[in-house]
Amino acid sequence: MYYSNGNYEAFARPRKPAGVDDKSAWLVGAGLASMSAAAFMIRDGRMAGERITILERLRLPGGALDGIKEPKKGFVIRGGREMEDHFECLWDLFRSVPSIEIEDASVLDEFYWLNKDDPNYSLQRATVDRGQDAHTDGLFGLTEKAQKDIVKIFLATREEMEGKRIDEVFGPDFLASNFWLYWRTMFAFEEWHSALEMKLYLHRFVHHIGGLPDFSALKFTKYNQYESLVLPLYRWLLDQGVTFRFSTEVTDIDFEITPAPDGPGRKQATRIHWVADGEPGGVDLGEDDLVLATIGSLTENSDNGDHHTPARLDTGPAPAWDLWRRIAAKDPSFGHPDVFGGDIPRTKWESATVTTLDPRIPGYIQKICKRDPFSGKVVTGGIVTAKDSSWLLSWTVNRQPHFKQQPADQIVVWVYSLFVDTPGDYVKKPMQECTGEEITREWLYHLGVPVDQIDELASSGAKTVPVMMPYVTSFFMPRHAGDRPDVVPAGAVNFAFIGQFAETSRDCIFTTEYSVRTGMEAAYRLLDIERGVPEVFGSTYDVRTLLKATSRLRDGEEVDLPGPKFLRERLMRRLDGTQIGELLTDFGLIPELGGTARRERADDAVE
Ligand SMILES: Cc1cc2nc3c(=O)[nH]c(=O)nc-3n(C[C@H](O)[C@H](O)[C@H](O)COP(=O)(O)OP(=O)(O)OC[C@H]3O[C@@H](n4cnc5c(N)ncnc54)[C@H](O)[C@@H]3O)c2cc1C
Repeated sequence: MYYSNGNYEAFARPRKPAGVDDKSAWLVGAGLASMSAAAFMIRDGRMAGERITILERLRLPGGALDGIKEPKKGFVIRGGREMEDHFECLWDLFRSVPSIEIEDASVLDEFYWLNKDDPNYSLQRATVDRGQDAHTDGLFGLTEKAQKDIVKIFLATREEMEGKRIDEVFGPDFLASNFWLYWRTMFAFEEWHSALEMKLYLHRFVHHIGGLPDFSALKFTKYNQYESLVLPLYRWLLDQGVTFRFSTEVTDIDFEITPAPDGPGRKQATRIHWVADGEPGGVDLGEDDLVLATIGSLTENSDNGDHHTPARLDTGPAPAWDLWRRIAAKDPSFGHPDVFGGDIPRTKWESATVTTLDPRIPGYIQKICKRDPFSGKVVTGGIVTAKDSSWLLSWTVNRQPHFKQQPADQIVVWVYSLFVDTPGDYVKKPMQECTGEEITREWLYHLGVPVDQIDELASSGAKTVPVMMPYVTSFFMPRHAGDRPDVVPAGAVNFAFIGQFAETSRDCIFTTEYSVRTGMEAAYRLLDIERGVPEVFGSTYDVRTLLKATSRLRDGEEVDLPGPKFLRERLMRRLDGTQIGELLTDFGLIPELGGTARRERADDAVE
C-alpha cells in the first residue's frame, strides 16, 4: 500500500488482485470503518460480496453514526457530523455509493449539490447573558504569547508532544482566547486531552482556520447521518451480497505468533470466537481468511435516558474494549487499550436531543440564529455556544427535518456540554444527573426564554432524550507511539485493526474520515490493491495555506518585523518585487510595497 494524490491515481481503476477469489473476509463491527473496508474490498479489490461477513453485536449497522426514533422516547442523535471537502477517503467511497434520495446520483453528488445550493455558515457563533450576542465577531483574540504557543506546537515533533496534555503546552493566554473557545467546543477537546492530537488537528485543518469562527469550513448531510450515510452504504453492501450478522458479539480472536530474532516475525489470526444470540460460536481461519477488527468504540455502553429519566453512566463490561484488551494481551504490537478506555471520568460526556413541540421555542431559536428554522435550509450553521454557561453548553439545529419521519411542525435540536459534572446555571445540577426535561430547562434558560415560561415549556413544549457516552473522547487521551496498533501490524498476514484506535499516519481522530481511511488502508494492504490510498490533504505543506492561516490567526494584523527601523526598511526593499514579497503581501502579512501590490489570488485553489 502506498499513498498518492492528484487525478491520475484518483481516477485509476485497479486491476483484480491475484488470488482474491480464494479469500474471504470477516469484519468485526458494523460501523463506518468495517462497512467502508467491505466496500473497498468489493469495488477496488473485486472481492465477491458473498465472501464478506460483518459481525455486529447490536441489531443495526452504523455504530457511532446514528439517528433513530426510539419508541416512546423520541428522536435521538448522539452527535452531528461536521464534515469537510478534504475527507479524501470518505468521498472516494461515497462517490460510488448510490444515493437513496436522488435517482442516478451518488451520495457524494447529493451532498455536493446540497452544500453548493445551501452553503453552511453561522450568523451567531456564541451567546452570553442568556441569548445575547457574545460578540466574538469572527475574531480569534490571540495575544502574541498565544500565537507563539500555536507556532511552537505546530513546529514541535510528534515525539515532543507525546504523553502531554493540552494545558501543559498551551499557556493561560491561549486558553482564555476565542480561538480555544471555538476549537474546544467544535471538536470537543478538554484541557486534559492530548497535545499530540491537538497538534495533528492544527496540521490537518490548517486550510480551514479562516472558516472556523463562522463554520463556513463545514459541510453537513441532508438528514441525520444514519439516514444520509449509513443506510445508502448498508443497502449497497447488501446488494453486493455482503452478509450482516447482527446480535453477534465477538469475544476473542486467536493468533498464531511466530517470533523471529531479526524482525517482526509472522502473525496469523486463526480463529474468531463469538456469542450469537446467546450461543457461543466462531470460525477457524486460514491464511486466506482475512479479519478486520474494529477495536474500541467511542459510543460503547452509551445509555439513553428520556424526558423524565437521566441517562446512566455505564461503567460495566464494555465488549468493544474488552475484546481489544484480550487481543492486546497477546502481542506488544496490538496496542494499549487502557490508555484510552481506562479513565471514564476524563472521557465521558453527554449530549441530548430535544424535539420541540411548542411553536414558541422555534421563535427563540430564530432570534439567535437569525434564520427561519423551518426553511429546510441551514439553520444555526454549526453549534452555538453559551460561553458563560457553567456546563459550557452548545447546541445546534441542522437543516430540518433532520429525520425523514419528523412532523413538519417540530424541530430537532442537538445539545451537548463539555463539563457534565458541574451544576447548571438554572438547573442547579450537573448535566449527567439531569432528566431530559431538566436539560431542556437549562438550554431554554441560555436561549433567553423568560424565566416564568421555562418550566412550562420544558415540561410540555419539548421532548428530550439525554445520552451519556462514557468513552466518547477516549481517543483524545494523551498517548505515546505504540499505544494504538498499526492498521496492519508488522508481520500480520491476514488481519488488520480498523477504526478510531488504529494508527495511521497524519490523519486525526473523532472523524468519519479516520474510520474510512483505516478501512481503506486495511483493504488495500490485505488484498494488495495496486492503486494509491489518497494521502491526508497536504495543506500543511502548502506555503500559501500557511501564510493565509497566519494572517487569520493574527485577526488580519500585519506582522511586526523585528529590529531597528533602518533594517526593517532594508528588508522590505529587498522583498519588493520578489516571489516571497508577493506572497507575504497577497496574504496580508506585510503592507503593499513599492512595486508589489496585493492581488486577489484567483489563480489558485487556496480556500
Ligand atoms: C457525539 C459524536 C459526535 C461526532 N462528531 C463528528 C464530527 O463532527 N465529524 C466527524 O467526521 N465525525 C464525528 N464523529 C465520529 C464518527 O461518527 C465516528 O468516528 C465513526 O462513526 C466511528 O466509526 P467506527 O466504525 O470506527 O467505529 P464505531 O462507530 O464505534 O463502530 C464500531 C462498531 O463495532 C461494534 N462492535 C464493537 N465491538 C464489537 C464486538 N466485540 N463484537 C461485535 N461488534 C462489536 C459496535 O457495536 C459498533 O457498531 C462523532 C461521533 C459522535 C459519537
